[in-house]
Amino acid sequence: MNSNRSSETMASRQTHIASDKRFLIFFDFDETIVDETSDDMVVQAAPGKHLPGWLQDTYQPGRYNEYMQRVLAYLAEQGVTENIIRSIMEKIPATPGMLTLFQYLRNRSSLDFEVVLVSDANTFFIESWLQRAGVRHLFNRIFTNPATFNKDGRLVMRPFHSHDCLRCPDNMCKQVVVRDYVARRTQERGRPYQRVFYVGDGANDFCPALSLGPRDVVFPRRDFPMHKLIIETHEAMPGEFKAVTVPWASAEEVVQRLRKLVAE
Ligand SMILES: [Mg+2]
Ligand SMILES: [Zn+2]
Repeated sequence: MNSNRSSETMASRQTHIASDKRFLIFFDFDETIVDETSDDMVVQAAPGKHLPGWLQDTYQPGRYNEYMQRVLAYLAEQGVTENIIRSIMEKIPATPGMLTLFQYLRNRSSLDFEVVLVSDANTFFIESWLQRAGVRHLFNRIFTNPATFNKDGRLVMRPFHSHDCLRCPDNMCKQVVVRDYVARRTQERGRPYQRVFYVGDGANDFCPALSLGPRDVVFPRRDFPMHKLIIETHEAMPGEFKAVTVPWASAEEVVQRLRKLVAE
């Protein structure tokens, strides 16, 4: 329905990013902005709130995107509508402190922060949540798997891109997204960012964080896979992981660190 409109909105936003911002901040979505995994939450729409075993058995490692496409097809067959899926997404709680972080960025973003979301969920889940939370306008760009409802009312999701990173699932390597974006924007702006920030939780947030430099800061959710991978890498290969690491349990800890860095 409004998918064309929202992609136009994204395209027009994209052309109006100010070129004088000092900082670039990336966000993951699931378990970082929201306190759940949206792909798991959508299963609540299934009969009995769970997926049949035969469907769960079709999951293959590294092929998660294709599995989710089958899940979405199954939900449509069971009569699950766009409105039902949207209302499930809208009810997912934000992670602790995340709305405070957004408030901070809203007040600062016109001055200092270019804000980008990079997620292996999909456009419909993410746009639904951001609109309801009133923070859609905060994000200059959203990189995720495109998903639109077809004429039969089924949410059809496609892979974001293809890549040859061995660390990441077939449909998305966030390091490729981050590197390409930073390189392109640096050229467009004619100057580098003072620092790049990355807020995430998952194993697939570790790959982009590896590409950041010693002036950059990564904010892994404390004790989640991204944080554990950073600690393991520091132990196994000292010097390999370069960015400053600031783990958080509440995103208010992210705000505290950003306040210091912005004041420098
Ligand atoms: Mg995540
Ligand atoms: Zn990767």
